[in-house]
Amino acid sequence: MILDLNHQSGLVYGRAASVGADTTARINAHVDAALVARNRQQRPRDYLGGSRVGEACARKLVYEVAHMPKDVGRDFDGSILRIFDAGHQFEALSIRWLRQAGFDLRDRGADGEQFSFVAAGGKLRGHADGVIVTGPEIGIRWPSLWEHKALGQKSWTDLVKRGLRLSKPIYFAQVQLYMAYLDLEVALLTALNRDTLALHHEVVPFEPAEAQQLSDRAVDILRAAEAGELPARIAQARDFYLCRFCHYAARCWEVPA
Ligand code: SF4
Repeated sequence: MILDLNHQSGLVYGRAASVGADTTARINAHVDAALVARNRQQRPRDYLGGSRVGEACARKLVYEVAHMPKDVGRDFDGSILRIFDAGHQFEALSIRWLRQAGFDLRDRGADGEQFSFVAAGGKLRGHADGVIVTGPEIGIRWPSLWEHKALGQKSWTDLVKRGLRLSKPIYFAQVQLYMAYLDLEVALLTALNRDTLALHHEVVPFEPAEAQQLSDRAVDILRAAEAGELPARIAQARDFYLCRFCHYAARCWEVPA
């Protein structure tokens, strides 16, 4: 039997577009449902991640550490989970490109595990993307902490323009804490532009006082979560821009401060 692979060739363009849209919606519904299901199966962290300590709102961090449920409809959906997944793939690409360029970039220690630290009795932890042991002469002293971020165009451009400390204070805090606990004096942040695949690199020196403040903040957050206390809100009104994007806004503003 000969298959007629062109049996739908009589479709008019308008109808073909609508069939295509239907197909897209149906397939994506399955893809996103699978991503959401996989995400739900992951065990929630039982610690405060070093990558979160620089979050501007201490109250939000306490909600996270205490595993308070997010507001209805504010869990990560398929579109966000696809971006997270893509981030891992982009990171693997950047690692490959840097290694090809002669950087001895290790994403695992001698034990085969990610470079990581544990502090505050196991309640504060961090997992680094890697350590560059040595590499070409680029005016930076090795070894260096290596952190990778895959960013959309707008976010990437802002990082290039304003630098890590101002543009991405959470990531700046992350690398400061990681350097402190992994005993490294410098970090190299690689930011890949998800739209153009352009690479931006920023050298971030270790700032001990900054790292100490962040470490103290982490301990305060953990103490508050254990004691069931809620730190003050970051704003006076719920239409503050950070609150508008916060996944705990309904919970946060429905209780007295
Ligand atoms: S709604 Fe605003 S104040 Fe409340 S936890 Fe979120 S960011 Fe903080």
